[in-house]
Amino acid sequence: MTITYEYGKNLYVNLTNRCPNRCEFCLRTHSAGSIYAEDLWLEREPSKEEILEDIKKRDLNQYQQLVFCGYGEPTCRLQDLLWLCDQVKKFSSIDIRINTNGLSDLINGKHSAAQLDDRVDIVSISLNAPNAEKYEDVCHSEFGLEAFPAILRFAAEAGLYVPKVYMTVVDTMPQADIDECRRICEGLGAIFRVRKYIPN
Ligand code: SF4
Repeated sequence: MTITYEYGKNLYVNLTNRCPNRCEFCLRTHSAGSIYAEDLWLEREPSKEEILEDIKKRDLNQYQQLVFCGYGEPTCRLQDLLWLCDQVKKFSSIDIRINTNGLSDLINGKHSAAQLDDRVDIVSISLNAPNAEKYEDVCHSEFGLEAFPAILRFAAEAGLYVPKVYMTVVDTMPQADIDECRRICEGLGAIFRVRKYIPN
């Protein structure tokens, strides 16, 4: 069971395989692993204590960031994620990042960005589309058309509590949609990034 794995200069934490979306480009749909690690399917979700133990086996001084990512959506385990951030901050000054679909508020039934304060240094939110309808076409969220506005609200609120907030799209989108996403992100005060689509 892969709980933590290295990629580039960072250490990634595979927190969960759960996610309320079924994105067409999701690596989970196509394979057991990714370019990052061999097998990211968890036979069961590790407890937060098991995850901490796994993190502690590593020398965090070797990495630039500790990234809560998953082969799923990390905020599906928001309380465990926050607990882990608190524990790691006790013994390391490594930057902590969350890679998220931005749906934490809907997943957890409340505004959650304020809880990232003093715990998370960087949030990277996948925007994936310039409006609610196109988001639904690509991401097939269980929240339907409510998903997109919730992501924008989460991104705006995250900017109040987290030093760096990125919003990303994949480079396979039409240029007009990329331009519109850039406008939306910059309007929210987020840093816009076009990331390379990696088929698997
Ligand atoms: S939000 Fe991420 S984990 Fe969830 S289905 Fe989409 S790509 Fe996969």
